[in-house]
Amino acid sequence: MNKLVFIAILLLVACYSFAKEDNKIDGPVVGIDLGTTYSCVGIFKNGKVEIIPNELGNRITPSVVAFTDDERLVGEAAKNQAALNPRRTIYSIKRLIGRKYSDKEIQHDKKLLPYEIVNKDSKPYVQVDIKGEKKNYSAEEISAFILIKMKQIAENFLGREVKHAVVTVPAYFNDSQRQSTKDAGTISGLIVLRIINEPTAAAIAYGLDKRDKERNILVYDLGGGTFDVSLLTIDQGVFEVIATNGDTHLGGDDFDNRILDYLMKVIKKKHNKAITKESNAMQRLKTETEKAKRSLSSTTQATLEIDELLEGIDFKENLSRAKFEELNNDLFKKTLEPCGKVLEDGGMKKTDIHEVVLVGGSTRIPKIQSLIKDFFNGKEPNKGINPDEAVAFGAAVQGGILGGEALGTNEVVLIDVTPLTLGIETVGGVMSKIIPRGTVIPTKKSQTFTTYQDQQTTVTIAVLEGERPMIKDNHQLGKFDLNGIPAAPRGQPQIDVTFEVDENSILKVSAIEKTTGHSEKIVITNDKGRLSKEEIERMVKDAETFADQDKKTKEKVDGKNSLENYIYSMKNTVEDKEKLAEKLPEAEKEQIKNAVKEHSDWLNANQDAEKEDYDTHLKDLQAVCDPIIAKVYKQGGGPGGPGGPGGPGGPGEQSEEPDL
Ligand code: ADP
Ligand code: MG
Repeated sequence: MNKLVFIAILLLVACYSFAKEDNKIDGPVVGIDLGTTYSCVGIFKNGKVEIIPNELGNRITPSVVAFTDDERLVGEAAKNQAALNPRRTIYSIKRLIGRKYSDKEIQHDKKLLPYEIVNKDSKPYVQVDIKGEKKNYSAEEISAFILIKMKQIAENFLGREVKHAVVTVPAYFNDSQRQSTKDAGTISGLIVLRIINEPTAAAIAYGLDKRDKERNILVYDLGGGTFDVSLLTIDQGVFEVIATNGDTHLGGDDFDNRILDYLMKVIKKKHNKAITKESNAMQRLKTETEKAKRSLSSTTQATLEIDELLEGIDFKENLSRAKFEELNNDLFKKTLEPCGKVLEDGGMKKTDIHEVVLVGGSTRIPKIQSLIKDFFNGKEPNKGINPDEAVAFGAAVQGGILGGEALGTNEVVLIDVTPLTLGIETVGGVMSKIIPRGTVIPTKKSQTFTTYQDQQTTVTIAVLEGERPMIKDNHQLGKFDLNGIPAAPRGQPQIDVTFEVDENSILKVSAIEKTTGHSEKIVITNDKGRLSKEEIERMVKDAETFADQDKKTKEKVDGKNSLENYIYSMKNTVEDKEKLAEKLPEAEKEQIKNAVKEHSDWLNANQDAEKEDYDTHLKDLQAVCDPIIAKVYKQGGGPGGPGGPGGPGGPGEQSEEPDL
């Protein structure tokens, strides 16, 4: 007999060990937005996300690495000397990462970037001159220098070592670009637990994954050098990128350049002087320009002031928001076309979009915001999180979940989660849940089960996925037998069943009998026999549709199991000499025996009765047995009985877990 072998409602509480999360991550898990022009780091702490400022108090740090003869500079220090050291100041490294040297994008950017890019093993390497020596750096290494900086910023803030991170990439990044980003993490000394899409991270930051209905989300990301529009759908915590569009060479840097060109004309006109490219004056003008542009997002007038910009010239110029907008209006408007295209590609109308999310520092510009709002017929975009921090914010939320910091406070999230609940078949055709639907993977959980029959030496582990309580309504993934269980009364053997889902959704199920250490396992890969997205959706829907009916079925099975367990334990009580058998007066023993026989006969004849019937029979039987047992105990009775199997529990009281 090895069918339906597990006992769902256990007699003894000891037979259950808490489902345990293995793969424990020690220390904090930060979220890093490794941007083309700026990077940002956040941490989920004390129930909320904190964006971590760098040593200068800035919440975003330039993704710039510079080399001098004596040192390596990263962040502001690198950016602030860029104009003076253009051939050794490396920016926009994200344009190179994970690409081949021969890619047309690389050949295009090579012409625009002021530093040397060389071909090494078909990959683009950055070449810099250090003390007359040519040094080559891969894009992974340069990115690692930025990641080290972000790691240090976080460590200074947290006062402890940071070993783990979630890092974001654009939605259109291919496998090679993603892998190289991960490699950059490894070089920097970080374990990258997850690479997630930037638009997805931004949507997570706004909690859009928590809405119960399917939502269409448009993420408009205008940063320093790039413009990305992504169309996502989110349903039941699962994100899907429907379409992407944008402009790889459009962003805040272009707006800065428009201002810069204008200012140079002004200087030329006023002072009849030109500013040379690689000069201190150019660097200072650039820095002031970006500062002025930023302040124009909150004020309507900005003043640029640079003492001794050129020999004998103190520079002072007012710039109005109106002028700034006039200088850039065509660029601003240019962003709307990709928005139209992404909708077209996704087969959606503007009115199909439920949420608009603004990302990237340049979306702080009021004119951009109003253009987007008009484009979506007055629909307000999501607000409240700084657009240049939204991606790191979402990455930090994901980090918090992976690190266990955000569990409980912030429901388990999406992306790489188990699409359906995983479990095994237990007595009565009930599915015992082991890994709930929506658990972030990789994950590992164990539960202890026991036998259902006396002297049972084999158990069958049937592995299932689905949301319904009964196995017949769920999907079987595979099964195996565990033999060689030492013969013992039912409920005594302890069998640990472990479910492990790795990053690639490969499920390993193992069972081990504790005393002998004998074990068996099964591996269920993703491709074989797993359900399609549509089938998964249908199963989740069915669970909702049949919720009431399922609850009744489950209660009925639970009721039957309770009665069965009680009968079993009473039989044992009166027969087993080590229990109460010897202490019970014959008459009362007979009384119990008769009652047990009566109800067990009824149970055998009524395998498909109503929950209420099982409950009534249990109550009637308890009414006979409990007072007798209680009396023996009061008289200083013998060893502990088999442990009451407990009442049937009122409707809804019974836990779904097999431990009660
Ligand atoms: P990335 O493109 O690397 O993802 P960000 O999203 O941080 O970077 O965007 C950086 C751009 O945002 C820069 O061009 C910066 O000047 C611009 N920016 C930052 N703050 C503001 C602001 N308040 N107003 C306008 N532009 C801003
Ligand atoms: Mg960005």
